[in-house]
Amino acid sequence: MMIYENYTILTPGPTKMSSYILGLGAKQVPYFRNKPFSDCVLASEKMLLNTVNAPDGSRVIFLTASGTAGMEATVINLLNADDEVLVVNGGTFGQRFCDLCREYDLSFDALDPQLKNLSDIATRVAPKSYSALLVNAHETSVGLLYDLDAIGYFCRQHNMLNIVDAISMFTTDRLDMQEQFIDALILSSQKGLALPPGLSMVILSPRALSRLKPVRGLYFNFSNYLKNGERGQTPYTPAVSIILQLHARLLQIKEEGGIQRLIEKARKCSSYFRGQITEFPISEFTEFPSNGLTALKMNDGCGAKSLVSYLEKEHKIIVCPNGGDLADSLFRVSHMGEVNCEDMDKLLKGLRNYFC
Ligand SMILES: *Cc1c(COP(=O)(O)O)cnc(C)c1O
Repeated sequence: MMIYENYTILTPGPTKMSSYILGLGAKQVPYFRNKPFSDCVLASEKMLLNTVNAPDGSRVIFLTASGTAGMEATVINLLNADDEVLVVNGGTFGQRFCDLCREYDLSFDALDPQLKNLSDIATRVAPKSYSALLVNAHETSVGLLYDLDAIGYFCRQHNMLNIVDAISMFTTDRLDMQEQFIDALILSSQKGLALPPGLSMVILSPRALSRLKPVRGLYFNFSNYLKNGERGQTPYTPAVSIILQLHARLLQIKEEGGIQRLIEKARKCSSYFRGQITEFPISEFTEFPSNGLTALKMNDGCGAKSLVSYLEKEHKIIVCPNGGDLADSLFRVSHMGEVNCEDMDKLLKGLRNYFC
């Protein structure tokens, strides 16, 4: 079993964790139906809401499940057959929203995401009217960051529910529920937050809370979570240790000057790296990258697989291969979690050895 200890981990989840957070994960998992744990959940909820500038009265749902469950739960609690949904589909994760709509028999259209500005969105979707939009703020499969300001403004203008999966850009790019008119925000533990996988958080604005639909089934039913959440509890056993790690992480972010500092760190790390790859036969895949990830295409159109395995074998560096049609032409370098410019230097050295 390959446990990548002492490796340079540059994958967009799970990301490199700090030794402080790892240490918390090594402790005995405590009993949780009590006040100390409730206090911890309530404090985490409050810090999360602050971090994304959620409107007053917003709530957080803590789901013990990976991010896709956060997407699925949000879809079934906020949308039903009465909705006309617009999905921004720019890759694997946009496709996942389309698949979810299909699974739940929702009426939807998929939008090609080469949208650069508001007028562009407006001309593409007229004249049909939609009730909700589903978008992955950062389409992680190709490193494409959408314009959340334009999207939010558009949704507000057309009275659409704006549902945003921000899983792979929370902590690396600007996220503001009020300024960007976001009604539901999906987050997850193992990307920018640099926690273990297994915890998803769905933030609901008062507008989203007022539009919750009746749901069949137990585990994903938000109303149970909201009721228990009032006293800092979850209906079912949560990922107790990840919640404790989340609490510690949020406190740490606050003490270190807030989320803005993390965003700045990712911006520095990514621009440092991007500024130095011009000497290699690879180029950035998109003009609109997230600070959290650089997707790189092989200029020859192939060779990504051999490069990815060379970096792992010879340099103990784990970058992220792509799947499907892009497997040999594209690979990705994450700047999320506990990575810095020194890690970028290691990767640049590896690339130099490979290409030069
Ligand atoms: C990682 C990720 C998810 C969640 O994927 P899981 O494998 O379920 O954790 C969802 N959306 C985006 C944009 C992601 O990058």
